[in-house]
Amino acid sequence: MRNEPSPGMSDLTACPQCDLLLQMGQEARDGRQALVCPRCGSGLYRSNRGSLENMLALACAGMILLVVANAFPVLGLDINGQRTDTTVLGAVDKLWLARMQPVAVLVLLTTILAPLLQLAAVIWLVLPLRLGRRPPAFARVFRVLQLVRPWAMTEVLILGMLVAMVKLAHFADLLPGIGIWSFGALMLLLTALTAMTEPRELWRNWEAAGK
Ligand SMILES: [Zn+2]
Repeated sequence: MRNEPSPGMSDLTACPQCDLLLQMGQEARDGRQALVCPRCGSGLYRSNRGSLENMLALACAGMILLVVANAFPVLGLDINGQRTDTTVLGAVDKLWLARMQPVAVLVLLTTILAPLLQLAAVIWLVLPLRLGRRPPAFARVFRVLQLVRPWAMTEVLILGMLVAMVKLAHFADLLPGIGIWSFGALMLLLTALTAMTEPRELWRNWEAAGK
């Protein structure tokens, strides 16, 4: 990615589906229009989904949910009156001690570290842009965001928990904790945030902030 695209170059865009090279209109550059490829009809760009305020609000809400999701138990078990419950970090610890280190690392990475990095990167990029300033190390943090996004897999945790709950339902009374509800909400929120993150829009704001 170049830091200072020449004025002519930033007007051109390639259709992600059929590679047709298109000239962007002024409306699209100002972020007022949805663009559709004239050859294959696929959506090129929708400016309204990349609103900085919405991204910032989602990222901050996500941070709060992530803290709540990890502070409270995800699942409680009641076996003949004996009650145990665990948080995700507690489960990671138990997996590690049970000599399942690769699984422990994967759970830690996909359910805690990757979502944390994604949310932190969005706040790092968007907060200064919202205030009209260029964030430090914009390109590098942007690449980190693209890198960690596929690793944030809270939906896999939710699916795994549901399967485990169905299987365990015969042996124990299950008590879903605050943690699992928070992870569920975080899953929806991260999906919305990913759909809303429009690289073109962020770079457009970055260019505008430098003027
Ligand atoms: Zn096309």
